[in-house]
Amino acid sequence: MQQFIVYGKIPIYPLSFLVVYGVLAGRFFCGWGCPVGAFQDFITYLKGEKNFKPTNFWYTKFFVLILTPTLAWIGHDLYFCKVCFSGSLFASIPFYLLNPTYKGYGFFFYLHIFILVAFVVLAYFKSRFWCKYICPIGAFYGFFNRLSMVKIKFNKEKCENCGLCLNVCVMGLKRIEDFGVSTNCILCGRCVEHCPKKALKFTF
Ligand code: SF4
Ligand code: SF4
Ligand code: SF4
Repeated sequence: MQQFIVYGKIPIYPLSFLVVYGVLAGRFFCGWGCPVGAFQDFITYLKGEKNFKPTNFWYTKFFVLILTPTLAWIGHDLYFCKVCFSGSLFASIPFYLLNPTYKGYGFFFYLHIFILVAFVVLAYFKSRFWCKYICPIGAFYGFFNRLSMVKIKFNKEKCENCGLCLNVCVMGLKRIEDFGVSTNCILCGRCVEHCPKKALKFTF
């Protein structure tokens, strides 16, 4: 999408795809399909963390969402890609492994390595750090959670206020009423899975 903006074009096709997907499934991809999300969950799994604290300041990712296309438009370059963790993991590291003797590694290669290390450390101390605070794709999909066909239904009658669903929420949501609709919910279903009273369920 940035590439379109860099060339002064409106990214109609990628934007349409994201909108259609968002309406169909909101942040479902974040909970079930994204390798970057899965990698962070793996770090949390290794740490053995089971109870998660509520998340504050999660709106930072909306600044990144605005900043990313703005910088691409003003600076005619893919600035976010230069600092994106995906680039570190899926481009810089594989390139290095395939070309260890290459002499042209420069500033941005080392920046990506630094970002990779920082990412792992931050994900260790804060579950889904990248998804909560930085990722512009997650921020964009988050807008569609309210419209999404995939939803989490809460049955208040069955709920005994045990708080287990809030404890296991890897994104640190603070209210059950926000499950499935908050821009921060990744529709991962951990809350659904852990509710002992079956007060939460996925609907399509
Ligand atoms: S917020 Fe971004 S990094 Fe996280 S799961 Fe969603 S798309 Fe992937
Ligand atoms: S886990 Fe189920 S019963 Fe417990 S607070 Fe959540 S919805 Fe209510
Ligand atoms: S509210 Fe439930 S589905 Fe949403 S992020 Fe938290 S655990 Fe996952």
